[in-house]
Amino acid sequence: MSQTKKTSFLRSPMGMASAVVVGLILLLAIVAPPLWGTQAATANPANLLQPPSPEHPLGTDGLGRDLLLRTLVATRTTVGMALIATACGAAAGLLLGALPSVMGARAQRWFSAVINTWLAFPVLLLAMLIVILMGTGTVTAVVALALTMTPSFARLAQTLSSKVGGSEYLAAARLLGVSKGRQFTHYVLPNIAEPVIVNVTMSIGGGLLALSSLSFLGVGVQPPEYDWGRMLSEGFEKVFSTPTAVVGPAVMVVLSGVSFGMLGESLASYLRERTRGRALSAAKLGPAPATETVELVDVPDDVLLDVRGLSVSFPGSAGWVRPVQDVSFTLRRGEIVGVVGESGSGKSVTMMSVAQLAPAGAAVTAQRLSFDGRELAGLGEKVAAHAIGTDIGIVFQDSLTALNPALRVGTQLAEVPRVHQGASRAQAHQAAVDALDSVRIPNAAHRATLFPHEFSGGMRQRALIAMSQIGKPKLIIADEPTTALDVTVQQRVLAMLRKECEDSGAAALVVSHDIAVLAELCQRILVMYAGRIVEDVDVRLLAQPEKLAHPYTRALAASLPDLETDRTKPLATIPGEPPDLSKPVVGCGFAARCAFATDRCRTETPTLREHPHGGLVACFNPQDGSHPGPNAQYDDAGSPLSDSQDRKAVA
Ligand code: SF4
Repeated sequence: MSQTKKTSFLRSPMGMASAVVVGLILLLAIVAPPLWGTQAATANPANLLQPPSPEHPLGTDGLGRDLLLRTLVATRTTVGMALIATACGAAAGLLLGALPSVMGARAQRWFSAVINTWLAFPVLLLAMLIVILMGTGTVTAVVALALTMTPSFARLAQTLSSKVGGSEYLAAARLLGVSKGRQFTHYVLPNIAEPVIVNVTMSIGGGLLALSSLSFLGVGVQPPEYDWGRMLSEGFEKVFSTPTAVVGPAVMVVLSGVSFGMLGESLASYLRERTRGRALSAAKLGPAPATETVELVDVPDDVLLDVRGLSVSFPGSAGWVRPVQDVSFTLRRGEIVGVVGESGSGKSVTMMSVAQLAPAGAAVTAQRLSFDGRELAGLGEKVAAHAIGTDIGIVFQDSLTALNPALRVGTQLAEVPRVHQGASRAQAHQAAVDALDSVRIPNAAHRATLFPHEFSGGMRQRALIAMSQIGKPKLIIADEPTTALDVTVQQRVLAMLRKECEDSGAAALVVSHDIAVLAELCQRILVMYAGRIVEDVDVRLLAQPEKLAHPYTRALAASLPDLETDRTKPLATIPGEPPDLSKPVVGCGFAARCAFATDRCRTETPTLREHPHGGLVACFNPQDGSHPGPNAQYDDAGSPLSDSQDRKAVA
C-alpha cells in the first residue's frame, strides 16, 4: 500500500523534480563542508576578486576564496538553520495548538488567546525585535525564525485538532481513562500529522528565504561563518566589479526556496488526491462498466420517474466497484415509495444519483432516467441538475449538517424563492415563514429568525421538510429522514412528510433501513440488496409475510414486531454478511445467506420479473407458494416451467 502511494507521488513531474532537487541540496549540505570546507575558507592573496574562469567558475571574493565552493559549502549552514528553525517552530506550534484539545475548555481558551495575540505581530518585525533583544548571530536568527513560525503552526494544529477533540474515539478514550499525554500522542497527533508534515515542508522554503534575509540585513549569520544571505550581502558590496559574486548564492536561495515549496505543494496535492482517491484512479480505469441492456417501453403519463438500468460505479484500487447495479423502477405521480435495505445496499446512492447528487467520483450510467417527461440519462450532472431545477426536493438524514449553522433558518429557506422564483426579499421571507408554519413549527415568524442550533432535532427535521417543499417539487427524496430522531418525534415527522406530499401532490422516495418506518408511510416498497432491487412490493403485504416472495424481504418483515410478537424472544435476524461489492458478485447476491439457494442461484443472477402478488421479484425460488420448487426446470428466458408437458419438452 505504502509502495503505491510513494510511486504515485513521485510519478507527478513536479513531485519528482522537486524531490530530486531537494535530495541534491540535502546531499550537498552533507558532503560539501568536508569536501571543500577548508579550501573555501582559505584566503588566497594571489587570486583577489578574480573574474569567472575555468579554475573559478564564479570567480573569487575579496580574499581570493572560490565563490562556487563557498556557495556549495554554505548549503549546510543555510539549509541546516532553516530545518532546525522550522522543526522547532512546528514542534512548539503543535504543542500550543494541539495539546489543548485533550485539556479542558478553559485551557483551550487561554491557548487560543495566546496564539491570536502572537499572530497579530508582523513576522519580520517580530524577528527583528527578537534579534535586537538577543543580539545578532546564527542561534539568534534560528530562534527568531522559530518563534515567528510557531503561531501559524499553532493555528493550523488548533484547527485540525479541534475536529479530533470532538471525535467519538477521543471521547471513548477519555472514558476509558487514557492519560492526557497518551491521548495527545496516540489520538491527536497521528490524526493531524499529514497536513502538518505538508505545511512543514513548505515552510522550510519560506524559512530559508527568511533566514537569508536576516543574514543579508546583517543580523543573521556573522563572519567568519557564512550562509547564502551573508554571501549575498558581501557580494552586493562588489556587484559592479564582480557581479558573479551574487549569482551563486542567489541561484541557490531561489532554487532551494522554490524546491521545498514545490515539494510541499506536490505532497499536499498528492494527499488531496489520495483522500479523494476516486478521480485519480478513474482516469486509469477507463470507462465505467456498461449497464445491462433492458427493454424500453413508452413511459405512461401518470409515471413521474422511470428509471431503467441505472448503475453507479466508483473507481477502486483493483477496478470499478459497482455498489448499484442495473436498478429499474417506476414512480407514479403522487405515490410514496419506500426504499429499504441494509447499510451498503446502495439505496441512498441510487436515490441521490436520481437527484443528480451522486457522490464525487461516481460514474452514473442508465439506459433511461426519465423524470416528468424529461430524459436525464446521458445529460451530464450539471445539465441534468439544471433541467430538474426545483422539481426535486431533498430531505437529508442529518439536519444539523444539512442546515448552514451560520445562517438563520428563515434565510436558508428563503433562498429558493429568491434564487429560483425571483421573489423579493420580503416575499421570500414570508414564503419561508409560511413553509415553517405548514410543518407546524410554532411561532414560525419568530423561529425563522433563529439559527439551526436553536431548534430541537425534530424541529430541524421539520424545517428540512419545509425547505424541501418550498420550491414546490414534484418529487421529494427523503434519505433516512427519521434515523436521528427518537420514536415519538419520528412519528410526527413522518406524519408531516405524508401530509406535505398529500397537500402538494408530490411523489416521494423515502430511503430507510427501518422497514417499520416505511410500512407506516409508503404505498410500495423497493427492497434493495447488494446494489440491486430484489423485490418491488405493495406495502400491505408486509402484514401478510406469507405472501412475500423474496427470502430477504421475508426476513426483513419477520424483524417487524407486532402485537402478537413474543417479546421474551429476540427478533429474527439474518445470519451472515452482505457480499463484498468491491469484487464482482457471481449469481444471486443473497445466496450465501439464503436457506433456499440452489446451484443456479450461485451461478446466475436473478432479474426482476412480474410476480403474482402484483409486484416484481428477483428470485429463482420465491417463497410464497407461487414457485414450483427448487428442482424446477426453466425455459430459455429463465421462467420456471409450470407443467409436466413443458418439462418433458425440455427433456
Ligand atoms: S435467487 Fe436463490 S439465493 Fe437468491 S434469494 Fe432466491 S432462492 Fe435465495
